[in-house]
Amino acid sequence: MLPSSYDRQDCSLARALEIVGERWTLLVLRDAFYGVRRFNDFLAHLDIPRTVLSNRLRALVESGVMVKVPDPSHSARWLYELTGEGMALWPALYALRSWGERQSGRRPRVFTHDACGTPLEPTARCETCGVQPAPNRVFVAPLAEPKPGARTDPVALGLRRKHRLLDFLPLDSDAA
Ligand SMILES: [Zn+2]
Repeated sequence: MLPSSYDRQDCSLARALEIVGERWTLLVLRDAFYGVRRFNDFLAHLDIPRTVLSNRLRALVESGVMVKVPDPSHSARWLYELTGEGMALWPALYALRSWGERQSGRRPRVFTHDACGTPLEPTARCETCGVQPAPNRVFVAPLAEPKPGARTDPVALGLRRKHRLLDFLPLDSDAA
């Protein structure tokens, strides 16, 4: 968490930025919505210094956005999972992503409602059903073939297929 940088800002946005405004934090959360849970998988997918990742995850756990639970398949390792408060960031994260797509003119992935297949609106709402699906009701799928030189870490490989948000990523079969 930023050391009281925004203390004099009587604003809820400043409060949100204290928790998610640090460099890398939103990308850690993006990967968590993709289903990444293990430290080494975040590390490999983000190319982030180990200490920075460690600090960001600790801050997210301390602020109640993520929870750290023992990894059942690796003793002495941990899984990092979104809490209810973390899940509540989904529409904001998706809206920010949509804004980024307009800025960049690129749309590498599409997010669709599992019930009807409709691509989500920029607000993360499904126009067809008139609801804002929870992240575990959303599929993400690539829209284009990977570019030459695209990432080949297990998470990136897993995201080359249609994938339900929050389902564990990468699968063991992605770890070549
Ligand atoms: Zn729908």
